[in-house]
Amino acid sequence: MASKLQPIRGTRDLLPEDCRAHARVEEACRSVAERYGYGEIRTPILELTPVFSRSLGDATDVVQKEMYTFEDRGGESVTMRPENTASVARAVLSNGLLNEMPLKLHYAGPMFRYERPQKGRYRQFHQIGVELYGVPEPAGDVEVIAMGADVLAELGLLEQTRLEINTLGDAESRVRYRDALVAFLRERQEGLSEDSKDRLERNPMRVLDSKDAGDQALVADAPSIFEHLTDEARAFFDAVQDGLTALGVDHKVNPRIVRGLDYYCHTAFEFITENLGAQGTVIGGGRYDGLMEQMGGPALPGVGWAGGIERLAMLAAGGVEARRPVAIVPLGEEAEKRALVMAHDLRRQGHVIELGYRGNLKRRMQRANKVHASHAVIMGDDELARGIVTLRDLDSGEQAELSIDSVSEGLPVHG
Ligand code: ATP
Ligand code: MG
Repeated sequence: MASKLQPIRGTRDLLPEDCRAHARVEEACRSVAERYGYGEIRTPILELTPVFSRSLGDATDVVQKEMYTFEDRGGESVTMRPENTASVARAVLSNGLLNEMPLKLHYAGPMFRYERPQKGRYRQFHQIGVELYGVPEPAGDVEVIAMGADVLAELGLLEQTRLEINTLGDAESRVRYRDALVAFLRERQEGLSEDSKDRLERNPMRVLDSKDAGDQALVADAPSIFEHLTDEARAFFDAVQDGLTALGVDHKVNPRIVRGLDYYCHTAFEFITENLGAQGTVIGGGRYDGLMEQMGGPALPGVGWAGGIERLAMLAAGGVEARRPVAIVPLGEEAEKRALVMAHDLRRQGHVIELGYRGNLKRRMQRANKVHASHAVIMGDDELARGIVTLRDLDSGEQAELSIDSVSEGLPVHG
C-alpha cells in the first residue's frame, strides 16, 4: 500500500488563518517601505549556486550545511535561495540598476535552509526585508533600523522587542581584531567544538557566532572588537547610535552580535524578543559594503535587514479575523434563483456573501453561524412575491423587513 503523503520535514502548509497572519506582516512591511520610498522587488527562488557560495562566506553555517543545492536537468548547480540579500545584489547587477542610486528595495517571500526544524525554525520559512544601496553614510543605517522599528510598531510588537546593535568595524579594524581573537582562541583550542576548530582556521569571527554551548561559554571572555576599531569605524558607529537616539529608537550595544553571514561590516543589529523561546531574533541585519564587489560588481555600499514572518506572526498574537460574511438564506425554488443573482450583485459591490449550495432553513442558518456571519438575508417565495426580504442581525437577533432592491443599504459598510 502506498504510504500517506506528508509535507517535507520542516515545511508547512499555510492554511487561511496562517495566510491572514502572514499577509498582515507583509502588509506592515509594504506600508512602511512605501512611506520611505522603497519599491518592491521579487527575485527567482532558484539561483545559480555561486550567487550564494561567493557572497555568504564558505565558513558560514548557511553555506556549509543549510543550502538546498542540486543539479538541474541541464547539469547546472542551482540553489533554492536561503536568503534574499545576495539575490537582490545579483538582480541589481543583472538589471543594470547601478546608475539608480540610492536604490531602495523591499521584498517578501519564501527562503529555504536545511536546518533542524523546531518552533520558529523551519526549512521553508518566509522573510520580509529591505535593502538600501548607494548610501555610505551612517544615515543609511539609521534609516533602515528605524524602518525595522516602524514595522514592529505597525504590528503592535515594538514593546515586546529590544534592539541590540554592534559594529564589525571596517576592513582594517577587523584585520587588527583578527590577530587578537586568533591568539585568544588558539590558547583554548582544545575546548572548541570541531566546527569551531575549523572556523578558527578559515574565519575566526565565525566562532563568536557558534550555537554550541561550550563555544559560547568559551568566547564569553574573548576580546572585543571595540579595542581594535579604527577612528573612522568608531566615528561611524557613534553616528549610527546618535542618529537612533535622535529618532527615539531605543537600542543597546551588544558586542556578541556578529550575524551569521560574512558580508557584513560596520553595523550589525537584531530586534530580539523574550516571548518566543530560543528563536528570539525577529529581525536581523546590518551593513554589507563589500557584498557587491564579492559578487563581481563594482564597490557599492549597502545596508538592510530581513525579518522572519513566522516569528513575527507568532508574536502578533490573537490572529487576524477574516471579514464577517452576510449569509443569504433562500427558501424555495424561486428564492434560490433570486439568491444567486443577489449574491453576485452584492459581491460585486464589495460585500462578503455566504450563499449555501443547498439545504433547508435550519441547515443554512447553522452554516451562517459556523462561518460567523454578521447578518442573514432570509428570502422565502411568499416574501419574494411581496418584493421584500428579512434582514436578521445574527448578534442581536433583531430583524426587519427590507425591500429586495435595497438590501445593500441594510448591510454593514465594508472598508
Ligand atoms: P538565527 O540566528 O535565528 O538562525 P539567522 O542569523 O540565521 O537567525 P538571518 O539569516 O539574519 O537569521 O535571517 C533573518 C531572520 O529570518 C531571523 O532573524 C529570523 O527571524 C528569520 N529566520 C532565519 N532562519 C529561519 C528559519 N529557519 N525559520 C524561520 N525563521 C528564520
Ligand atoms: Mg540561522
